[in-house]
Amino acid sequence: MSFEKLGVFKPLLDAIEDLAYTRPTTIQQRAIPLVLQKKDIFATAQTGTGKTAAFALPILQRLRKHQESKGIRAIILSPTRELSIQIYEDINAYAKYMDIKTDILVGGKDLEKQRKRLKHGTEIVIATPGRLLEHIENGLNLSDVEIFVLDEADRMLDMGFTKDIRKIHPLLPKRHQTLLFSATFSDKVRKLSKLILTKPAFIETAKKNTTVDTINQIAYQVDTARKAELLAYLIGSRNFPQVLVFTRTKASADELAEELKKDGLKVGVIHGDKTKAKRLKTLTQFKEGKFRVLVATDIASRGLDIEELPYVINYELPSISEDYVHRVGRTGRAGREGEAISLIDIYEKYDIKEIEKLIGQKIPKDVVEGFEPDPNIRRKDVDEVKLKAEHKREAKKFVKHKKEPKRVTAKLLKSAKKKRKTTKRDG
Ligand code: AMP
Repeated sequence: MSFEKLGVFKPLLDAIEDLAYTRPTTIQQRAIPLVLQKKDIFATAQTGTGKTAAFALPILQRLRKHQESKGIRAIILSPTRELSIQIYEDINAYAKYMDIKTDILVGGKDLEKQRKRLKHGTEIVIATPGRLLEHIENGLNLSDVEIFVLDEADRMLDMGFTKDIRKIHPLLPKRHQTLLFSATFSDKVRKLSKLILTKPAFIETAKKNTTVDTINQIAYQVDTARKAELLAYLIGSRNFPQVLVFTRTKASADELAEELKKDGLKVGVIHGDKTKAKRLKTLTQFKEGKFRVLVATDIASRGLDIEELPYVINYELPSISEDYVHRVGRTGRAGREGEAISLIDIYEKYDIKEIEKLIGQKIPKDVVEGFEPDPNIRRKDVDEVKLKAEHKREAKKFVKHKKEPKRVTAKLLKSAKKKRKTTKRDG
């Protein structure tokens, strides 16, 4: 299958050639013809499957002829500023040989400047829901919108954007095409899809909550106190060119970064306490190769698009199992091989079991020579571990919200029967 056979037109084929994409990915093969036929779409596709091009290419093609109205013709909503920027950059690369105006509306930038820019006939807008609403409240008109895209819909809903989306949707013209992309199925996404989609075509490219096939997964058992040492050893001894390392909390991200710096590694940190500008700067510097290690909490997990990132390391397993899928989705992108390494201590034995249940596969366990867990610690702490597991079960009944975006699965939500609190918004 080629992009040409999918009906993609010349200016886009030339741009794709410049990007050295040789053939369409599965989601692209399935979505492109449907979007060109103006169908609504409900697609489950993980990050790294090429989903951005799957909607961006046919949208660009559909909008190739200019309209006189000068209104916005396509809106792409994404949960975070980082992801929005990524989509914006991708679209502009695909539109290289076209004459089409795109713009990005995310928080942290001057609203007035954005407003002025929009008056010059922007056709495609990429936005976070909060910032788009601000513009709407300031008079932005959506009556010319032909295509509405929700990217990473599950993430948007988890971040508390449901209300915003429900406010935006009725302002769109009656006849418009809606494309909904979500990494995972959830009751909330399904509910939203019923509200906003008309006779959608369903595209399921990856099994529910499974990790991408091309990723090799391994978990190394190690004592808590030796994790940083093991990480530095792995980076050095295996000569990892660049790694993305996930921690569970902001504090451990900072602590780990300091430890690794002591080992002479160049390290960047991205988490919720860093300003948006700082997070972006760090990400850019990582992409430019200025850091060998990028330590991140889950907030940064979704929006990052780093090409050919071969290694992702879970320094600590995520507190929400679904985040494991999102984290390891940073590697093995677009069919490339990747490796996801988890460093698990005795306390994470239960977390990994939950992750295995979720992804429906066993993650192989191993130890690194010289870093074998101390059996005495195992015995001494066994009661504590049991206690922690019990505590976790209890905690599930009363899910509490913490500052760092914590997401609650539909399953937990059901059992807790508590209204999910929203997390700090972006944009
Ligand atoms: P996405 O899932 O949209 O985040 O895309 C993941 C990565 O795959 C991005 O770096 C894209 O540039 C790249 N990509 C998208 N489509 C293709 C393709 N057909 N061939 C090779 N790389 C691709």
